[in-house]
Amino acid sequence: MSQPAGERSYQQTAAASTMHYLCAECGAKVGINKGEPIRCKECGHRILYKQRTRRMVQFEAR
Ligand SMILES: [Zn+2]
Repeated sequence: MSQPAGERSYQQTAAASTMHYLCAECGAKVGINKGEPIRCKECGHRILYKQRTRRMVQFEAR
């Protein structure tokens, strides 16, 4: 399980199912792989918005 070869399968999975979100707290772009918990990797905030949902992003304007 600890072989470096495992990195390959990780890249394939990431390319196939990574969704990008914007953090509601700090506005950082966060790539979340399918099956991973929704959480900002910069600040740890759990509320993320889909990048396409611009309505919600404006909420962060303040
Ligand atoms: Zn954040």
